[in-house]
Amino acid sequence: MASRSIATFDRPPARLTRIARTRSELRDALAGVDRPIGLIPTMGWLHDGHRALIGRAHSADATTVVTNFVNPRQFNVARDYTKYPRDEARDLAICEAEGVDIVFAPDASEVYPRGFDTTVSVGAIAEPLEGAARPGHFDGVATVVAILFGLVGADHAYFGQKDAQQVMVIRQMARDLALPTQVIACPTVREPDGLALSSRNVHLKPAERAAAPALRRALMTARERWVDGERSAERLREQMLAILAAEPLANVEYVSVADGETLVELERVDGPALLSLAVRFGSTRLIDNEPLGVSPSTA
Ligand code: AMP
Repeated sequence: MASRSIATFDRPPARLTRIARTRSELRDALAGVDRPIGLIPTMGWLHDGHRALIGRAHSADATTVVTNFVNPRQFNVARDYTKYPRDEARDLAICEAEGVDIVFAPDASEVYPRGFDTTVSVGAIAEPLEGAARPGHFDGVATVVAILFGLVGADHAYFGQKDAQQVMVIRQMARDLALPTQVIACPTVREPDGLALSSRNVHLKPAERAAAPALRRALMTARERWVDGERSAERLREQMLAILAAEPLANVEYVSVADGETLVELERVDGPALLSLAVRFGSTRLIDNEPLGVSPSTA
């Protein structure tokens, strides 16, 4: 139970958190709040990665809004949606302890009311990697984030670098649609052994959990080769694959060395790049990434 307990000590004193379940309750809750407003979109099952985003919002924004919505439109596999972990009471307790001002926790019918018939589809940046592996995923993400940006009218929205392509897709959408919310990427929060925190980690069996830090090891090994001067993208991919191949429970979906701006696969790493991978452990699919060099997309 220790790792799932809610640490309330050494945190700011709890503030009153308003819960809105409908668009109109959200409008009421937002009426007259102080700006800037910071938005943290989540699918719940909150962990320290989400807490870090909330903390970042607190440092810049007068009002913080967390959305807690498991968005059916971004799951291309129905079973993945139904088995996504949910514990709203615990999530609300965390938001209270973290001093979140407003939690928007709507039903799907509130986000997509009867007659809803629009899809936001971002172009080339949404096509490779997660876009190719999970068809329709980024349409679902972009559509829900556009709705949340519209409903909350936030000045800033915080996203995790753990989902690097997602940040790039949302930035592109916000820029193209002239949405006034500024998209801010925050560093990936990890377990001490390097595994990126993810709501999906709860599904890992003990042996799979023990094997999962191989993702980070693969990324870090490739990074070391790059620091040592390796510029062949294929050699870096081979390095990552070799580390993952040594882990019998790891089923690799992809390893990528892509341009840091366009996510097009590289032959040579001569500028900012993104190392990324997707690996299955049993039925649990994990992703992680590591930027090489500074690019405006990953900064
Ligand atoms: P999710 O609830 O998984 O949809 O994630 C909500 C937000 O939290 C997204 O912007 C994620 O990128 C971010 N996030 C998830 N895991 C982490 C992590 N380990 N570190 C930092 N941000 C994260």
